[in-house]
Formats: sequence, C-alpha cells, structure tokens
Amino acid sequence: MSDEVVDSNPYSRLMALQRMGIVHDYERIRSMTVAVVGMGGVGSVAAEMLTRCGLGRLLMYDYDKVELANMNRLFFRPEQAGMTKTDAAAQTLAGINPDVALESFTSNITTLEGFDAFKASLCDSEGAPRVDLVLSCVDNYEARMTINQVCLELGQAWMESGVSEDAVSGHIQVIIPGVTACFACVPPLVVASGIDERTLKREGVCAASLPTTMGIVAGLLVQNALKHLLCFGQVTRYLGYSSLKDFFPTMDIRPNPGCANTLCGRRQTEAAAREASPEARAAAAAAAAAAEAAAAAEAEAPVHDDNSWGIEVVADQAEPSGSGGESNIGARARGKPGAPPEGLQYSMPAGVTAEELRAQAVEDSESNIEDLMSQLDALNKP
Ligand SMILES: [Zn+2]
Repeated sequence: MSDEVVDSNPYSRLMALQRMGIVHDYERIRSMTVAVVGMGGVGSVAAEMLTRCGLGRLLMYDYDKVELANMNRLFFRPEQAGMTKTDAAAQTLAGINPDVALESFTSNITTLEGFDAFKASLCDSEGAPRVDLVLSCVDNYEARMTINQVCLELGQAWMESGVSEDAVSGHIQVIIPGVTACFACVPPLVVASGIDERTLKREGVCAASLPTTMGIVAGLLVQNALKHLLCFGQVTRYLGYSSLKDFFPTMDIRPNPGCANTLCGRRQTEAAAREASPEARAAAAAAAAAAEAAAAAEAEAPVHDDNSWGIEVVADQAEPSGSGGESNIGARARGKPGAPPEGLQYSMPAGVTAEELRAQAVEDSESNIEDLMSQLDALNKP
C-alpha cells in the first residue's frame, strides 16, 4: 500500500490518515478480513466502503437476488436484477478495487446446513477463526441469533446493525463475547413473549426503506469497524439513530449474568478471568499511563510541526464577552440570559436548571433496551 502523494495512487488519501497521526498503521488493513452477512441496503454499502478502504479480504453472505424494488437504495443497479446479491456485489466490487480478495457465499445461514457452512467459512483449515470482524447487516431476528450463536462458539467479535421498518431510525451495536451483552442477553420484546417471528409478517405490508437512513447506518457501522480494526478513536458499543429528531443515543450494554444462552455465561467467566490476570492488569496500567502521557504531550505540542497547507486558526467571533468560556446553554441552564445565534432556538423550555436536566438524564449503564425503545417511540410520534 503506497503512501506516495500522486493522483494515480488510490490509497494516498487513506495513507494521509497515518501522516496526520489519526491512524498509527493504516496499512494493517491489507492483512484484515471482514465478513459482511446480508448484502441489503446496509450490507452492500458497508462492503463497498470496506473495499474502497483497501481491506485485505471481504467475505459476503446472502441468499437473495437483486430486484428492481431494491433500486431506492444505494449500490445495486437495474441491469443486475435477477443476479444473486453476492454475485452482483462481487462483480461491482472487483471493478472498484481489484486488490481486495472477495469470497461470496450464496446460502441461508439460518438453515442447519447453512449454520455449519457459515461457521466453517469463518475458520481456516485447522478450525481457527480467520476473520477479524463480522458485520451483521441482516433484516431478521433468526439470522441475528444465528450469527450470535456462531460468534459465541468462536469467541468472535461482531457488530450488529439494523434499520427500523418505517425507515426513519437505526442502530449499531458492538458484541464481544463475554465482554459486552450478546444478542440474546437483552432479547427484543416480541421474541421474549414467545411469538414466532414468521407469524408476524403482515400480508401485503411492505416495509419502508430510505437510501439515506441505510447509508447513514452503513457509515456508522463501517466507521466503528475501522476504529475497532485499526485501533484509533473510541469504538461506540451501542449507537442509535433517530432521523426525525437527529437523535443519537449511545450506551454500553453489559453482559447479562442470567443470559438464556449458557455459552454466553461461560464466555463471561472467561472474560472476567482474563481481566483479573496479572498480565491484563499490568497491560491496563501501562495503557492508562501511555494514554495520560500522550494526552499531556498533545496538550503541549502543536498539532502539526509543519503547516504545508497554510491553515490558520482565527478567533471565534461568537465568543460571548465576559462569559469566561461558558457556553450559552450552560449560562441558560443557570438562569442567566444568553441568546442563541440568529435563526436558532433552544429545544428546551427557558429557565430549565442544571438540577432539572440531571434529574431527567438517563444513566448509561442503567437503561435497558425497553427504555430506549419507548424513548425512541415517543420521539418518533408526530
Ligand atoms: Zn448473552
């Protein structure tokens, strides 16, 4: 992967991430393997993003065919109607970046044979996992539970994604066996009540979809996948998206000690033992010290030694005089006057105190999926 800054180098803009100090070793992506399960409106776009980023190997799974009804989404083209989604995707992606090794699997992972074939495809000839990350871009509970089971068995990190039936909200969730909640730790209500998902399909009811929501969710998914794979920034464990209010809730869902999947319990015990080992404690202490030193160095050093772009930082004209850097919102929360810029208004009523805001706040670690769903429902009501 060349970092030469010439117009003919497809990786020059990506390698610039390394020159600018965002990613320590971008080139590592050439040795990485990602599996994308479900090549629909989110999966196909995620696959294209990873391909353009120069991923080493991409595994694609889907059993469906491209239809003209998919054309409101990104990626597939009308002339590909009738082809399997995996074949059509391989055709397009090989044309975009021939450096990426592509493997397509046209099968349904929720069948008995499909489950075994899926698990085998994630492993090398000796049965050891060969994939760095699995991205779930499927549209049903059964397939997510299949991915959950396979990844629990392999101890494989994966990321789940979803877009609502009404096309206006979505989410991504990182699942690391034993460390975070697995998909069975907090089952959605509809399955907890014992209803077969297949009986819920309403005849003649067509789920809505928008290329915008699906593109955004794919972007959030791959952004966090890149951070996870290349070890930069902070990976968000759960990130929601409600498009009607541009609301992005985040939270950390801890594993459920009473998870219905006994394998999840075993992975939790293993993770706790790993965390308590002297090596892990020493590594955590070293990482904390390194982060502290890096933060101190960053605070002192200029962002760039050389300023080849001639970028200048100008004073913020909107700085309120005499506020001592306190934001307008902070000032308002304390009952002081502080008008927002022209054309903007606060969504909170005037005179809300910091105590009231705190009282309304939801603790990250305490909120469960039902709370979040009811919050989202309330927001989506016109
Ligand atoms: Zn679990």
